[in-house]
Amino acid sequence: MGPLLLPLPVLAIVLAALDVVLLRWAEPWRVGGVGTFFHAYFLWALFGLAALLPARWTLAWLDRRSRPWILLRADARPWVVQLGWMVLPVAGHATLEGHAALVGFQGLLALAPWLELAGTLLVGGAVLVLLGRLLGALPGVRTASVGLALAFGAGFFLQPRTATAQPPRAPARPNLLLLVLDTCRADKLEPYGQARPLTPGLAELAEEALVFEDSLSASVFTFTSHLSMLTGVAPLTHGAHLSDMRVDPARAGSIASMLQAAGYRTGAFVGTDVLAGHTGFRTGFEVYDDAVDPEVCETFAWRLVHALQSLAARAVPALRFNGRPHWIQDFQRPAGEVLTRARAWIARDDPRPWFCFVNLYDVHWPYLPEGEGRALVRPYAGPVDGFLFRSDHWQPGHAMGSDDVRHVNDLYDGELLELDRQVRGFLDALALEQGGTAVLVTSDHGEGLGEHGTWNHDDVREPQVRVPLLLRMPERAPRAGRVTRPVSGIDVAPTLLALAGLEASPAMEGLDLSGELPAERARWVDDRDHLDPDDHRFALYEGCFKLVRFGSGARVRHELYDLCSDPQGFTDVQAQHPELTAALVARLEARTGGAQAVAGDSEGSAAALQALGYTGE
Ligand SMILES: [Zn+2]
Repeated sequence: MGPLLLPLPVLAIVLAALDVVLLRWAEPWRVGGVGTFFHAYFLWALFGLAALLPARWTLAWLDRRSRPWILLRADARPWVVQLGWMVLPVAGHATLEGHAALVGFQGLLALAPWLELAGTLLVGGAVLVLLGRLLGALPGVRTASVGLALAFGAGFFLQPRTATAQPPRAPARPNLLLLVLDTCRADKLEPYGQARPLTPGLAELAEEALVFEDSLSASVFTFTSHLSMLTGVAPLTHGAHLSDMRVDPARAGSIASMLQAAGYRTGAFVGTDVLAGHTGFRTGFEVYDDAVDPEVCETFAWRLVHALQSLAARAVPALRFNGRPHWIQDFQRPAGEVLTRARAWIARDDPRPWFCFVNLYDVHWPYLPEGEGRALVRPYAGPVDGFLFRSDHWQPGHAMGSDDVRHVNDLYDGELLELDRQVRGFLDALALEQGGTAVLVTSDHGEGLGEHGTWNHDDVREPQVRVPLLLRMPERAPRAGRVTRPVSGIDVAPTLLALAGLEASPAMEGLDLSGELPAERARWVDDRDHLDPDDHRFALYEGCFKLVRFGSGARVRHELYDLCSDPQGFTDVQAQHPELTAALVARLEARTGGAQAVAGDSEGSAAALQALGYTGE
């Protein structure tokens, strides 16, 4: 063991520095701290300890040979062997990870991933042998290695930070705040008829805002829906969905880029890893704050730890944590943290007007109210908790009764109350009454909370697509009132551009909500955010009616709802309206062309989607 004890800590320093440098190179927008390096060092040192035994065996095997075939000089041998056992498992995992991604282990049931793995190991082995010969040829391999480690460390600490270019000065335009309360149902807000006073802060904002009563999200998946808001086009046009989480500026431009070009400083602060900057969402944002977990969770070392932990949790119940692999990384962060960062950015001394996009993920599953919100939860003795079907205490086969439904609603309501308190504090600090700042509050989708057995947001039922939309204009005494005209998430982008005094791009499909709106318009909700095409949905809204296409290909079926007489849309009435159904089906087919979501070269994090309940069990 002796000859391996010096290589272990030194190699851990080199590998940790390399891991962090690679991360900074791949995600330069991150505002990482020095702490990340120490966290990464801790992980690599652990790998080093785990590698000690196999490395010792390998050394003993090599020493038994009179002329080792890899020709490593004796003094370099412990270094290279230890390095190999530390780095090759991580490199191998990184190779296979790409294939397993969203589809899980099925992705590994092919030849390609294993050929790639063999390639990685062969190339890695060859590099190690080369390194061994190089190091062995130098006088005093230890001195050289320590020097290398110090150089890497210094390189990490002295990394130049990219300077932000100062865009041209622009005439005074209003500041723009886009505040998305993820997973927030419209009917939970007082301005939308909620009887319990859950959102006094938003109720106050609504008094001096336009309240859009009939507002639909463009999709029911966070990524797809947010992209429609920022680009002003439907998911069919921007093309992104669960299996292809990627922003393609060639298909649809983001208002962040347009506002930046017009002289705005642009900042985004998100509460979920689903909107991570590496998916392309950061396009047009000078600051993209997506640090929802400790930064070390982005390193290669952590990715192997995460995979091992997920695997172990499958076999050992004690390692499970309510459907999530562990508690260090939960792929989301609370509103307080997101808003503190956003507030600091807004307060920066910069004469330019700002566009700030904020996503608050608190009322998304799991429902775990804290503080005052906890007090809202009425006594309940049943088995259901805020983790719902992924809870460690979930009893398979338990039929949800009215008590359970009430309890889950209480938990969700409690979270919303606490979120409203945070939002209110944030809005108060903006001093909206002084004018100059426009605020648009909405959500990316709603949430099923037990209506007809509907839970979560993986369908296009009314509770899942009805979202609030409040628009507070930038004037000191703004126009306020209730608007009954039909609106959609695709209207967000053209509205914000219009408030900035900019022309909407002709490619945008949404409408400017600060202008005249038509009494009737066709609206679409796209839900191809499922791995199985049989679960895909498309909804077409027109007048009182809503047509939904379920599935795709040969197994497609339709349902028609009359929302004027059945506001929650659970009773299929196509038998009463055969001609209308046929006409709407024809329009839906003409628009979608039987569109299927095809898995693309997704930039999304499969681990995050699984932990947040989008894929897997
Ligand atoms: Zn969402």
